Amino acid sequence: MTAGFVTVPARDAYWLRNATIPAAFLTDLPAGVPVSPDGLAVVDVAIRNTRIAAVVAAGESEGGVDLRRSQVWPCLIDVHTHLDKGHTWERAPNPDGTFGGALRTVVADRTAHWSAEDVRRRMDFGLRCSWAHGTKAIRTHLDSFGPQAAITWPVFEGLRKEWAGRIELQAVSLVPLQIFGTAEGQELADRVAAAGGILGAVTYMSPEIDALLDRVLDLAAERGLDVDFHCDESGDIGARALAHIARAVRRRRFSGRVVCGHCCSLAVQPPDVVAETLDLTAEAGISVISLPMCNLYLQDRVPGRTPRWRGVTLLHEFAARGVPVALASDNCRDAFYGFGDHDTLEVFREATRICHLDRPYGDWPRAVTTTPADLMGLAGAGRIGPGLPADLVLFEGRTWSELLSRPQANRVVLRNGRAIERRLPDYRDLDDLLGKDGA
Ligand SMILES: [Zn+2]
Repeated sequence: MTAGFVTVPARDAYWLRNATIPAAFLTDLPAGVPVSPDGLAVVDVAIRNTRIAAVVAAGESEGGVDLRRSQVWPCLIDVHTHLDKGHTWERAPNPDGTFGGALRTVVADRTAHWSAEDVRRRMDFGLRCSWAHGTKAIRTHLDSFGPQAAITWPVFEGLRKEWAGRIELQAVSLVPLQIFGTAEGQELADRVAAAGGILGAVTYMSPEIDALLDRVLDLAAERGLDVDFHCDESGDIGARALAHIARAVRRRRFSGRVVCGHCCSLAVQPPDVVAETLDLTAEAGISVISLPMCNLYLQDRVPGRTPRWRGVTLLHEFAARGVPVALASDNCRDAFYGFGDHDTLEVFREATRICHLDRPYGDWPRAVTTTPADLMGLAGAGRIGPGLPADLVLFEGRTWSELLSRPQANRVVLRNGRAIERRLPDYRDLDDLLGKDGA
């Protein structure tokens, strides 16, 4: 177990003094508290009976834990993951690092290995990593094509029950959009509804795309489901599913939440196409999720050639249009992304560098906290204020540069006001699943 940089008493009531909090997280900025040009405020936080009782100007309290200006964040939220694919790299690595290589590798691995036990243990491994890093809620996409849906969804429902009260879990169906042109699509929508999930698909450009999108939205509306699409995850200038989704949402007057992940191709399209898509997205009330680590890894990869673009969507331009933008981890140690540890602070750290979120930081810290909480419908999560649960992460770093230059492995995670035991699972736990027995 990693020792925390500070010790928090196991008491019902105490103060966290001299806490630096990004003002973007505060539901109410206490009177007279200055905010630095970098958006940081220094305050004292009272914890009482599992909740935040008060946030006051630094120096107003006495006693308690002196954080000496270390940062305090709300617990992290990872709104786009693939827990079912995770931690397969050692038995199914991507042969050439490309998107096509990832797809072929995962299909073969799924067919050969994805029993309920295999999926459950790898998902649980990912959840244990997430918990140790200070994650409070996760949305995972689940491969739901063919016979896999009947295996994976019950596993997910079991884990959701097991982790209730620690990590709030949501699941999204992941199938090719074409499925919704068949009877299997309706069956899947019923399964997703019965499990309290979100209806999702990978969109591909095709002559039927509009009819298929209408069908998905109608199936979702009939069942009161939100939708979450994988869209335009390529550098193909002709990949314009986001615009089609936006038009479909308005055409069908769809009133659920609509989330689109990736949207990479927007970054390589001509300015008039970009402007139109940005406007359509804003008008349709769609939220966008960017997955910078996975996009940087997969996009523009041609073996033997140096990549020329970063693979990420137009985050700043969406934000300027008022489109909510979240950041999430996506894949973890599988053929789509060979690294990762379910640490949403790492996502924010890397996104800051890849997407230039630092001059100024502004509201960007909300992209891994407040915004995903809102997309997931989690009231009060992803923010800090009186009355909210004392679910906080304490990082030793004081400034942005200190916070994002080290992995903050000695962070302290508070759940309901108490420090949790932060123990990352041992990779050896999965050796027998990965064919490494006795290796
Ligand atoms: Zn994804």
